[in-house]
Amino acid sequence: MKKRYLVIFFIAVIIIILGIILISNKNSKEQIIKVDDSEPPQLIINGKDKKMVPIGTENIQDSATATDNIDGDITDKILVEGNVDTNNIGTYELIYRVSDNAGNTTEKKQEIIVCNPLGEEGLPVLMYHFFYDENKEKGKGKDNNWIDISDFEEQIKYLSENNFYFPTWKEVEEYIDGKTILPEKSIVLTFDDGDASFFELAVPVLQKYNIDGTSFVITSWYGYRAQEKQKNVNYESHSDNMHQGGRDGKGVMLSWDYEKIVEDLNKSNETLGGNATIFCYPFGQYNESSIEALKETGYKLAFTTKAGRVKVGANKYTLPRVRISKTTTLSQFKNMVN
Ligand SMILES: [Zn+2]
Repeated sequence: MKKRYLVIFFIAVIIIILGIILISNKNSKEQIIKVDDSEPPQLIINGKDKKMVPIGTENIQDSATATDNIDGDITDKILVEGNVDTNNIGTYELIYRVSDNAGNTTEKKQEIIVCNPLGEEGLPVLMYHFFYDENKEKGKGKDNNWIDISDFEEQIKYLSENNFYFPTWKEVEEYIDGKTILPEKSIVLTFDDGDASFFELAVPVLQKYNIDGTSFVITSWYGYRAQEKQKNVNYESHSDNMHQGGRDGKGVMLSWDYEKIVEDLNKSNETLGGNATIFCYPFGQYNESSIEALKETGYKLAFTTKAGRVKVGANKYTLPRVRISKTTTLSQFKNMVN
C-alpha cells in the first residue's frame, strides 16, 4: 500500500513541475512580444540639426522619413510642430514627431536661424595674442600683439549687445564650401599661442559674456592648458614645437623635413585629444609642403597672419584674419567687424 501512495505522489509532483514549465514558457513568449512592441520608430530628417535660412524664404521645412520595426514605412505619420516666422530675424525650433501603432514615439528637434545672410565681404576671423591690465602694469613698451583687458572687454561687450553670431568651425568650413550661409553679423575669435595672459585675463571675459573663442595652442609649451578644458574655449593647434626660428631666421615649419613636420602635427593633435582640425601657422609662415602635411594629418582649415576676411571659395589652407592690437580703438573695431 505504502509503495502505491509513493508512486501516486511522484506522478503528482511530475505533473506539477511540467505545469510550471509550460506556464513559464508561455510567459516568456509573451515577454518577447512585448520587447518587440516597445521599440520606437526611426526618424530621419533630410536636413541639418541647425539650419540657416535667409529672411523671406518661403518653404523651410525639410523632408523626413520614418520606419518602424513592426509597422514598416510610417513616413506619412510624421507631424511637424513649431512656428517659424521667416519674415522676422530670430532663432526658431521645429519638432518632427512620429508614433508607431503601439504608441512608441520618436521626436527630433531642428533649430532654424532666420537671418540676413553675410555678404560678399566675407567673415571676419579676429586674431588676438596677449593681454595686460593697464591698471596694474602699464602697457608701455609692449608691442602690438598685446591689448589692454578693458579694451578687450569693451569689444566683447559690443559683440554681445549687438547679437553677433559665433559660428562653429564646422559651419565656417561649410560656409567656405558654399554649403551654408551665415548670419550677416557673424564673427570668429582666435587667440594665438595659448599664453598665460589669455587664460588669466581674457577667458574670464569670454565666460562673463558666454562667448566662445579658439585658443591656438603651441602644445609642447602649453599643452597642459588644453587639458584644463575651460568653458567657452575651443582648443586647436599652433603646432607642437614648430613655434621656433631655424638657422635661417625663419620658422622651422619652412625648413624641417616633411616627415618631421607630419610627426609634429600628429603629436599636437594627440595632445589636444585627437579632435584638432584647425591650424594656425607659427609666425604665419607656410609653403607647399606645410599645406601637404596639414592635409595628410587631417587638418581642415589653416590660418595665416595675412589681413582680410574669409570668403566663400577661399583656399582653406591660407586663410586670412583681422588683427586686433593695442592701438585699435572701439570705432575702428566696429568698422572691422561690420
Ligand atoms: Zn604664434
